[in-house]
Amino acid sequence: MTTSLVTGGAGFLGSHLCDRLLAEGHRVICVDNLDTGTLENIEHIRQPGFEFVQHDMIGHLEVAGPVDYVFHLASPASPIDYLRLPLHTLKVGSYGTHNALGLAKAKRARFMLASTSEVYGDPQQHPQSEEYWGHVNPIGPRGVYDEAKRYAEALTMAYHRQQGVDTHIVRIFNTYGPRMRPHDGRAIPTFLRQALADKPITVFGEGAQTRSFCFVSDLIEGFWRLIRCNHHEPVNIGNPGEFTILELAEVIIRLTGSRSEIVNDALPQDDPAQRRPDISLARRLLDWSPTVELEEGLRLTLEGMRFAVPPAPAP
Ligand code: NAD
Ligand code: UDP
Repeated sequence: MTTSLVTGGAGFLGSHLCDRLLAEGHRVICVDNLDTGTLENIEHIRQPGFEFVQHDMIGHLEVAGPVDYVFHLASPASPIDYLRLPLHTLKVGSYGTHNALGLAKAKRARFMLASTSEVYGDPQQHPQSEEYWGHVNPIGPRGVYDEAKRYAEALTMAYHRQQGVDTHIVRIFNTYGPRMRPHDGRAIPTFLRQALADKPITVFGEGAQTRSFCFVSDLIEGFWRLIRCNHHEPVNIGNPGEFTILELAEVIIRLTGSRSEIVNDALPQDDPAQRRPDISLARRLLDWSPTVELEEGLRLTLEGMRFAVPPAPAP
């Protein structure tokens, strides 16, 4: 039986990946320290063939028996999480990635690093293609995340070139869907939570900054295709549909029928002004392109949301 190990498997993306791997018939080992993930995300898959190991990837991990695929997703991912956990973020990107790569090498497993569009920083090239080296402030508050991921990419390429490990790097652009934590601080869960409670929607700055939002099922399909191909350099996976944050707030107000107003809060330091993936490589290499557009994805997210919709006012 094929065995996959997923670090960060109790998180938002990791738990969807575990679902997919079980559906593919794999035995799944989910490793997580539960820093930002929860057991609730994997409750529905506590079944034969699924094993949860509570472990911090900063430390060495010993696994018995064969492992065919290692997906390394463990890392704080939301700006409020990595700003709260700067040293931990640097350590999981460095020591954690080292341990995950060492495990893949020992088991002769295929390896996939969950990297990020943040390696492009506040990009001066638009849209961003994989050849772009980025525009990152290494000492700014976001530097702990951006540089940890850039280091993790360098380490992954070194394990491939020097040690012959079968590695893959996915640069993930903003992804959303069910199981995001309502208070994780990222724009989509925050705006949905605020809109459902008719509370002010907190748009940072003027909301002119752009992002391109990918629905989780599309991303997981990209992971699955990427880890089985023979390309070792980074590949962008994201939805090129680009929206300003103000547009996002307006779409969410409309979809939820909310009475929320939009309020402007301070723009965080080094917040990227624009972001859109060039996905030509993923199209060519993996025959992959996203299928779920923003409004449909937001509806699916709303349906799957665990936090309660406020009860209708009494007549
Ligand atoms: P998440 O916070 O829901 O998941 C991260 C998981 O990693 C959590 O379950 C957390 O408990 C676990 N974790 C953190 N540090 C750990 C450690 N030291 N040892 C073991 N487990 C640890 O976030 P997510 O959105 O699911 O992100 C998953 C991965 O994808 C991250 O590596 C993130 O950088 C990357 N990524 C996500 C996005 C996105 O839009 N969601 C974009 C770019 C990159
Ligand atoms: N954002 C916002 N209000 C919020 C949360 C986020 O305006 O309550 C903005 C944030 O400044 C950024 C964009 O939305 O420009 C996307 O933020 P998110 O944290 O979702 O992702 P990232 O900045 O990592 O791309």
